[in-house]
Amino acid sequence: MTPDKAILRAYNVGFGDCFLLTFCYGTERRRILVDFGSSAPPPGAPAGYMLRIARDIAAGGRLHAAVATHRHRDHISGFGGECGKIIASLAPEAVVQPWTEDPQAPPGCMVNDEIENRSAVENLAAMGRQGCAVYTHAGTSSGLEDLLPGVEIHVVGPPTLEQSAAIRHERTRDASEFWQFRRFLESQVNDAAPAGLFPHAPRFVPEAAPANVRWFLARARRIRAEQRKEFVRALDRVLNNTSIILLFRVGDFSMLFPGDAQIENWSWALGQKRYRDLLRGVNVYKVGHHGSFNATPRSLWKLFAHRSTKPDTPGRLLSLLSTRSGKHGNGDAHTEVPRRTLVEALARESNLFCTQDLPKSTPWRDFEFPLNGGKSDE
Ligand SMILES: [Zn+2]
Repeated sequence: MTPDKAILRAYNVGFGDCFLLTFCYGTERRRILVDFGSSAPPPGAPAGYMLRIARDIAAGGRLHAAVATHRHRDHISGFGGECGKIIASLAPEAVVQPWTEDPQAPPGCMVNDEIENRSAVENLAAMGRQGCAVYTHAGTSSGLEDLLPGVEIHVVGPPTLEQSAAIRHERTRDASEFWQFRRFLESQVNDAAPAGLFPHAPRFVPEAAPANVRWFLARARRIRAEQRKEFVRALDRVLNNTSIILLFRVGDFSMLFPGDAQIENWSWALGQKRYRDLLRGVNVYKVGHHGSFNATPRSLWKLFAHRSTKPDTPGRLLSLLSTRSGKHGNGDAHTEVPRRTLVEALARESNLFCTQDLPKSTPWRDFEFPLNGGKSDE
């Protein structure tokens, strides 16, 4: 059994992610929800806006699986409260989360500081107990294979502590991966961070850094004497590096969903030829971390073979950006989300769609991809 069509519904949830992926097998449909959360609804959104999205998801019938790429509000809030009840009523057969959410994960990996997400976290766990809870990491099974026959599913991230330890020495190339001006990065280098861990990595002065990075720096100073593993856990917690990166592939057509993964998460896959080959062929790219400067490594972007500066190129890369401008970051510090230089590259070299351009009347859009015998027309 092989799907003949894929339909991707991209919702405008303001600052957050919500993607409903449907694989069509003739008249039969298998539906996977990849994230459902918002930390700020679209400007002017009425009360109960997220309920409207939840009801639309439910209107399509059975939901076969839910993926929560990582435990941040803008990716899971819709799995809590009234919205969460609606999603739970769809009884997904698989609930996929990163290995760091596994109750069996080493102590210190669980995030406990976001109390407002508790309802979503508990509902995800309960749904997982009803169906099948899957805690995955790079290079392992997604748990979706039996639900999606004929679809290859690759878990590209997040790496485990052991996997990330193997690539830690490559950290020096980060400065060239970010969508900022090199001069700005160099100006941010200082000696405040702990010595000996990543001696060549760029460092940010706290005043210019986003709030989460400021928090991280403060924490990094406090824990400089602790074990390296503790340091990596702090990194994972703060920098979105626990995000699942999923790649769906049918024949030569593939779609990439990286959540909010940043460079430390990507590094494991980018360091291996097998994954570089897979990433090279991506046709649909869910832009990482709402277009932040540090979540689409330049080496990843350059890999995408379907980039083209000619808009009429058949099979040109499609980039889907779910974001809300003006919510995070600072243009003067080149940290605004979405980052201007990244958006320019996305628009120049791919067909760029942005959720915040959707009309209020229908805050979602479907993208259809024929999968003719494993060959896409797109
Ligand atoms: Zn996010």
